[in-house]
Amino acid sequence: MTPQMHLYVLASGSKGNAAVVEGPEGSVLVDCGISRKMLRERADEAGCDLSRVEAILLTHEHSDHTKGLRVVCNHFDGPVFTTAGTAGGRRNLSELSFTLVNHDATLELCGMRIQAFPTAHDVNDPMGFRFETRGRTQTEDDGVLDAIGWATDTGHLTDQALDALYGCRILGIESNHDPRMLAKGPYPAYLKARISSSYGHLSNEQAAEAVPHLVTRDTETVVALHLSQENNRPSLAVRALAQALGAEAANTTFTEARTPDGMLTICAGAQDAPLVVW
Ligand SMILES: [Zn+2]
Ligand SMILES: [Zn+2]
Repeated sequence: MTPQMHLYVLASGSKGNAAVVEGPEGSVLVDCGISRKMLRERADEAGCDLSRVEAILLTHEHSDHTKGLRVVCNHFDGPVFTTAGTAGGRRNLSELSFTLVNHDATLELCGMRIQAFPTAHDVNDPMGFRFETRGRTQTEDDGVLDAIGWATDTGHLTDQALDALYGCRILGIESNHDPRMLAKGPYPAYLKARISSSYGHLSNEQAAEAVPHLVTRDTETVVALHLSQENNRPSLAVRALAQALGAEAANTTFTEARTPDGMLTICAGAQDAPLVVW
């Protein structure tokens, strides 16, 4: 695939999420669960030009995805796309104006086709996204030029998610917790049950089980997303995905892995630092 889009994971984890997908004709912000100040700091650090952001996409209403939205929207004129369920899901969102879409909508923005798909999470109507650019001659569609998949906050991958995430050049997939750490960890039983339910969060094992079905020769990078700081470690998430994809450690801490042919890299988004996937 020809890189036409770039991914900036500005923050990822249970304490706040925000990412920018840069397309050929502008960028979109996915979620805004960090303050405007932090968003700007992280974007600067990552070399991400926020003035190119033309739209915001909201996956769901949990505060780790929406905390910074109101203040960001005070300084932003573009549309904020989300489902009616998400828009009505939290009181602090009710004063914002949204462009409502279905969880299976197709949007054309910034030179990208954005395909939404439903995720499985304990909220009203959550979604994930596939971003792609397509080539086109005057008469026919030349097919996909570049694709980025984005799926977090999902207890399992829906059939629509599996379709949408297939064959992306950059695959961002939730790898929230290590089941053993979660089981032994400090969370109360109800929270452990919530996280590991099929409407909670994908574990390292679940992500590892899925990726061999999603990665193709076009896939260059798999990014583990939404890692829990209490119930996971980047090395555990990357190791689980690496084992599933035949990759080996690319550094001493096992926070990055690569296949022996060098064609596929596995890394992890972080809560405290931006990650750029070019
Ligand atoms: Zn979340
Ligand atoms: Zn959530």
